[in-house]
This record gives sequence, structure tokens and C-alpha cells, in this order.
Amino acid sequence: MPRNDLMDIATLPSGEKGYVAREDLPAGAVIASWQESAVDSEPTKFTIQVGRGRHVDADEVRFLNHSCVPSTFVDATTGNVVALHPIAAGQSLTFFYPSTEWGMTAPFDCACGHAGCLGKITGAEALPADVLRRYALNDHIRELVAERGVDAD
Ligand SMILES: [Zn+2]
Repeated sequence: MPRNDLMDIATLPSGEKGYVAREDLPAGAVIASWQESAVDSEPTKFTIQVGRGRHVDADEVRFLNHSCVPSTFVDATTGNVVALHPIAAGQSLTFFYPSTEWGMTAPFDCACGHAGCLGKITGAEALPADVLRRYALNDHIRELVAERGVDAD
């Protein structure tokens, strides 16, 4: 069952569109979910990777922006966008793109402004395991990291 009734679309200070919380949300709240029919085999600038060769293009996730200190987790297994911690009404809804994306069609320089900002975001493939370990990751990313083997450093 798709839902997106807990978020609004807003124009952020950066000029980009992004989702914000419509109301105060507790940790663990399911903020949005997508329909299985939204799953496609081809990635685009707007899709979210939910498995190998599986990408979601749906309004429920299209305007979730990246942050290196995210407020939500996009759960590829359940199809839910979940609050990682309590989120105040009006706060930006963000997730860590490498938690779903192995490689990205449109890498970018992150401007999240957090102390731990990773800078250029190109997907999990480009990140060392010790950085990825700080984040909640989806199964397909964990598997791909394991297959990549031990980091050379
Ligand atoms: Zn950042």
C-alpha cells in the first residue's frame, strides 16, 4: 500500500525540491512506501536502487535528498521509508544515498554541511568499508561490499 501522507514537498534553501515532515514523527515511523509496480530494471537520476538490477522510480521516493547524516532509512526489503530518529515537523527528510546505490548515474558534491560530510557522493562502490560501517545499509549493498573483498587500505 503506497503512502506519502506524512510528508510535504518544499523548496529547500539550495533551491532544490525536497520532502519535509508534515508533522512530528517518532523514531521508526513509516513515512512513505512505494508499490511493487514502481520497480524497474533501469536506473535514472531519480531512481533508488532496491536490489541488483532493481530500481524504484516513484513519487514516494523521488524527492528524498541525500545527507551524510540522514533522517530516514530507505528499506529496500519492505519498501518503506523509515524515520531513523524523531523528526520535527518541517524538518528535511533525507537518506544516505550509498545505503541503496552501489554506483550512481549522477554523482554530485554533497552540500549537507555536516562535520562528517563525505564530499563527492558516487555510491557505495567508491566508499571504504569503515565509512559504510557507520551507516544502516540495505542487503544488496552489504552483499556487494562483501563480494568486493577486503579493502586494500
Ligand atoms: Zn554530506
